[in-house]
Amino acid sequence: MNKNSIRKAFSLMLVALFVSVVISAQAKKTVYILATGGTIAGQGATEVTAGYKAGAITVDELLSAVPEIKNIADIKAEQVANIGSQDMNDEVWLKLSKRVNELLSQSDVDGIVITHGTDTQEETAYFLNLTVKSDKPVILVGSMRPSTAISADGPRNIYNSVATAVAPESVGKGVMVVMDDKILGADDLAKTNTLSVGTFENPNYGPLGIVYNGKPIYTRQSVKRHTSNSEFDIMNLNQLPRVEIILSYSNATALFVDAAVKAHVKGIVTAGVGNGNLTTLMQNALEKAVKNHGIAVVRSSRIMTGPTAQWDEVDDDKLNFSASWFINPYRSRVLLMLALTKTKDYKEIQRMFSEY
Ligand code: ASP
Repeated sequence: MNKNSIRKAFSLMLVALFVSVVISAQAKKTVYILATGGTIAGQGATEVTAGYKAGAITVDELLSAVPEIKNIADIKAEQVANIGSQDMNDEVWLKLSKRVNELLSQSDVDGIVITHGTDTQEETAYFLNLTVKSDKPVILVGSMRPSTAISADGPRNIYNSVATAVAPESVGKGVMVVMDDKILGADDLAKTNTLSVGTFENPNYGPLGIVYNGKPIYTRQSVKRHTSNSEFDIMNLNQLPRVEIILSYSNATALFVDAAVKAHVKGIVTAGVGNGNLTTLMQNALEKAVKNHGIAVVRSSRIMTGPTAQWDEVDDDKLNFSASWFINPYRSRVLLMLALTKTKDYKEIQRMFSEY
């Protein structure tokens, strides 16, 4: 080869390299990170002590711990709230869901990752699963250790969430939670341990998959995913109907049912014993709440797995109650709130609980 052809080959190589860099830069997907607070944004007094304040650092500080996400996506960040998720509320839910819907309707947004405390993550994930009208990936992520802890789990969880959000196979899976290398569906999400980093499970159906070497591997489909075709529309709502959860246990009285009636709630979800059973005192009070005050009653169970089935020991049709099937009390409250934005008919509410 003479000097000229070497020069030519070298410049061709440079052009090819430049083109591939431009193409791969263009091919990067755009992911919005919406921050709401939680332990993932928490700060402890030291790296080892248990005490810390959730929702203490901003989204930019949080993301600076995981610069690698910029290699796999174009990242845009917004702070929606900065609270411990024990204080999560309808106002933030509505704001969050509206923002997610707005962003996902844009063709230049490919997915959303929401940083969130773990205490009520299952409720927010389910609310979004029912109210976001898009098939694009929506992933909630939290951590069990604050950002200042040794082996903080937040950065890895954020990386895995972004990696899952940009993967084509994540489209149409419904809202998911990515933590501890697991991908979990919002349809059956439960926090199962107060401290462990592997706290989230899909206790009835098993996880949707895992993240391995920075790539999602799916092993099941979400059985109940509603993201693109949801019948609920919150875009014009500024508040949600009030629904309370009441627990049953040996010797439970009508005390809390009576209090809920007095407070003019629109719905009551019961966390019953076994297959959603209630003490006779509670059941009689609930029957009156339906008949005399038009309050919607959904029976669920305090047991973590298995359905609260219709017509077992309780005659739901006779009492005009609905049964929650596989939806636990926390998610039942979310669904009943949304159901009550459309109907008060227990049969129609039962249809939703049977379908979702
Ligand atoms: N209390 C915290 C929260 O839910 C706990 C956590 O994020 O793990 O915001």
